[in-house]
Amino acid sequence: MKKLKIQVQKIDPKALAEVSCDVLLTAVPSLKKLPKNWPGNLRSAVTKGFKAGMVQDSDGALLQLPAPTGFKARRLIVLRQDLKAPHHELAKPLHRALALAASSRAAAWWAPEPGALDVLVRSAQTQTYRYTHGKKNPVARLEQIKLIGPERPSRREAEFGRAVGCGQNLMRELSELPGNVCTPEYLARRARTLGGQYRQLTAKVHTPTQLKRLKMNTLLQVGLGSGHPPRLIELHYKGAGRGRPIVLVGKGITFDTGGISLKPGAKMDEMKFDMSGAAAVFGAMLACAEAEIRSPVIGLIAAAENMPDGLAGRPGDVVTTMSGKTVEILNTDAEGRLVLCDALTFAQRFKPRAVIDLATLTGACVVALGHVATGLMSNDEALAQVLLEAGQRSGDRAWQLPLWPEYRQQLHSEYADLANIGGAPAGTITAGCFLQEFAEEFPWAHLDIAGTAWPDAMGRKRSSGCAVPLLMEYLRS
Ligand SMILES: [Zn+2]
Repeated sequence: MKKLKIQVQKIDPKALAEVSCDVLLTAVPSLKKLPKNWPGNLRSAVTKGFKAGMVQDSDGALLQLPAPTGFKARRLIVLRQDLKAPHHELAKPLHRALALAASSRAAAWWAPEPGALDVLVRSAQTQTYRYTHGKKNPVARLEQIKLIGPERPSRREAEFGRAVGCGQNLMRELSELPGNVCTPEYLARRARTLGGQYRQLTAKVHTPTQLKRLKMNTLLQVGLGSGHPPRLIELHYKGAGRGRPIVLVGKGITFDTGGISLKPGAKMDEMKFDMSGAAAVFGAMLACAEAEIRSPVIGLIAAAENMPDGLAGRPGDVVTTMSGKTVEILNTDAEGRLVLCDALTFAQRFKPRAVIDLATLTGACVVALGHVATGLMSNDEALAQVLLEAGQRSGDRAWQLPLWPEYRQQLHSEYADLANIGGAPAGTITAGCFLQEFAEEFPWAHLDIAGTAWPDAMGRKRSSGCAVPLLMEYLRS
């Protein structure tokens, strides 16, 4: 993993020409009204560039031009953006500016004011990610970011942003790996590697034999048709603080064919992303270690592959979950909640302060919220509010859906305590109601990232690295 070098320095705007870097970036609220304290040749270069139409994007918010004579920097990137805007408005423009800068080795950011540093550095760090398995992409050149301003920019904020960006890069890498590489056992190996890399992290893996002993029958059931049997992976982050841990639970379906309730062929390749919840947990655990979060955090990954086979589970099968409740599996494609329910029961043993699960759980969530917001459901209103605020502050937003008891009735089964699907109406909520049945002992929230994990921008099918910023904002407070 490539980690950006960070430098922070207080400098006088008059000395901007002296900043040695390849590309100098900054933001101004308006390209017509430039800061008075900028060097004269910088002001005139930007004004000329703006008038000459050297604007990079359609909404005229990004100006790229050669640095004025006498500057040590070679390029200038000026973003028309008020940095006091909410972070969800800042995230995209900053990302575009940093994407332009990524072709240089050393970037410098002139921070006219202290805010948004973490979003900026997070964005810069994510620019260093390139997919390299099976396709040789040129490595990113960006290695260093210098943060300069009239006040000394906060190194702490910058390092936090970098930690989040590193976590997002890990999430993206794992999510984008194909199903024939990224199997449950592969995830287990990566967890062990991570445990070896950070003193604060330890990994523990449960094999199918151990899962049988634990009575994690629904997790096992989902993997019955696959040659790559399930794993339950624990990642423990110690932290300096004491107290009860926060547990993150990730859905890790490394490939989802739907099982016997087979999905249609079109776009089935995207089902390699069905472990994005697990990948987000990996990313958050790495970010915890990088940012040295105080609170203890435990990541649980329920990993399985959902395949049709002579040995696969069938629609109508009744399975006893680890909690003792029975489930009638009416549709084998609603498998995410089956692996999660046993993991939620397992989470109980850590006496958690709160449990948050992350899953690409329902297509219905894409219908409800599109690719813009993550779906949030919770049995604890205080926890829901804190997570919603963390989403706002990090620019990685979620929107709450209700878990009213009326919805629970849709999970009625004639043959078991509950059915694993509740029909078409409110499919995201009934999935949440299903999980809630296994989260009775602790404050719990469920994040449905089906719409936000790989937003399919112009058919490119790339992982977004979503949910890691939201989780980290929550975990640091
Ligand atoms: Zn499925």
